[in-house]
Amino acid sequence: MGLGESVPIGNPLFRCLRMTCLLAVLAGCASGPVSDEPAATDAEPGSPPPSGPVLRGKEIGKSFMASALGGYRFYTDEDVGATVRAIGHDIAVAAGVDPDSYHFFVVENPQANAFAIPGGYIFVFDGLLRRLGDEEELAGVLAHEVAHVTHGHFFKDQKKVTAVDLMAAAAILLGRSESVAAVSLAGAASMQLAYSRDNEREADVAGISYLYDADYAPGGLVRFFGVLRQQAHLVLPKNQYTYLSTHPGLEERYDRVERMIERRGEGPAPRDPGRWQRLQAGLAARAVDGRVPGEGTFEKGYAALRAARLSRARPLLEQAVRESPESAMALAALAECLVRQEDAAAAGMLERAQAADPQGASVHFWQGEWHRRRGEADLALAAYERAIALDDELSMAHFRLSQLLAEGPRAPWGRFHLARYLRLTLKPGQAVQVLGEIDPAGDEVLQRGINHQLQTLEEEGV
Ligand SMILES: [Zn+2]
Repeated sequence: MGLGESVPIGNPLFRCLRMTCLLAVLAGCASGPVSDEPAATDAEPGSPPPSGPVLRGKEIGKSFMASALGGYRFYTDEDVGATVRAIGHDIAVAAGVDPDSYHFFVVENPQANAFAIPGGYIFVFDGLLRRLGDEEELAGVLAHEVAHVTHGHFFKDQKKVTAVDLMAAAAILLGRSESVAAVSLAGAASMQLAYSRDNEREADVAGISYLYDADYAPGGLVRFFGVLRQQAHLVLPKNQYTYLSTHPGLEERYDRVERMIERRGEGPAPRDPGRWQRLQAGLAARAVDGRVPGEGTFEKGYAALRAARLSRARPLLEQAVRESPESAMALAALAECLVRQEDAAAAGMLERAQAADPQGASVHFWQGEWHRRRGEADLALAAYERAIALDDELSMAHFRLSQLLAEGPRAPWGRFHLARYLRLTLKPGQAVQVLGEIDPAGDEVLQRGINHQLQTLEEEGV
């Protein structure tokens, strides 16, 4: 939870959802593909017949997603999950595609890997995020993956992809190959999970273009190759796919991309490192097995804050504010800490944080928390609404609105915010259920919102 509070949403339901997802994959076998694309039944002579009806395009993405949701931990918080989504969104806009139909996920997995699945599903492992040095490197990875989707580069023979293969592929790509034996390793292997070198070249060329258009310095992609070189010598267990095994030709890619950037210029200046710092602090807060947070005062304080160790966080954050009195990040983190300690100094610190960054959505969220804890419901409501106007993906603000609006004339909106919260915390089945039960009572804006959410959830493959 990015905002550090546990939320009373039933876990048993989520377990149900996992079961439903697995069943959905299997049901996909029985009901067959739904697609506008021409039927592809022309298997090459001599190749083994596909096991079960073939899936295509968006169906592949949906089935894969259903398998992935069933057993992996994702980051849904504001620090890590939302930052990756925001950068991915910029890249999708630059690529000229509908950003709402691209879905970015951060998987908890120590490998340095990232990959894309047809339909616009892009997965990044936290093992990769922990090794990257800045936002430009991440933008480089995402631009390359988005380009694989826009160019339709996928499994060697996409005409033969079945739901069963996808379950195996999900297990392999997401690092659970030991669980695939019963499914069909052979099926997954026949999909050839690696891109061709031509695909790699195309994705790099297009990806670099997206980076320039989205205003990210493209040199990040080159630095990312440096990160990959460091893991090139690693020996991996059989049937494990890494970034290097699915994206071949590192050395030639390195040289080619460097030459392209030399010709086109370095592009925009590096971004404000604030967002990246927050992402890394979010990762550090989730760190296990003895990994330590970053060395800076702010990083240590922020990690302590995320781990709800408030009395440790406060002096570190106070020091960080003394060191950089203008830093919006440090001010916002200290304000959050004071609100959570219910310290009267919170009011002044919230004001300072808002003055330093008027567009900072999470400060408005914490302003709402401050009012809520003091029983000032109307002021809290207004603050949460400001937070969402600035960042509609702030899941906890949606959750609070669902609580505050639970009774009274705006109750249908309360249910709508609950659905937004459920979707953003990756409980899509529950989100659809809640949306389906809302009676918009003639409110056209709400009806449009419901329709849009249902459509997006449908695309994400519930
Ligand atoms: Zn690639």
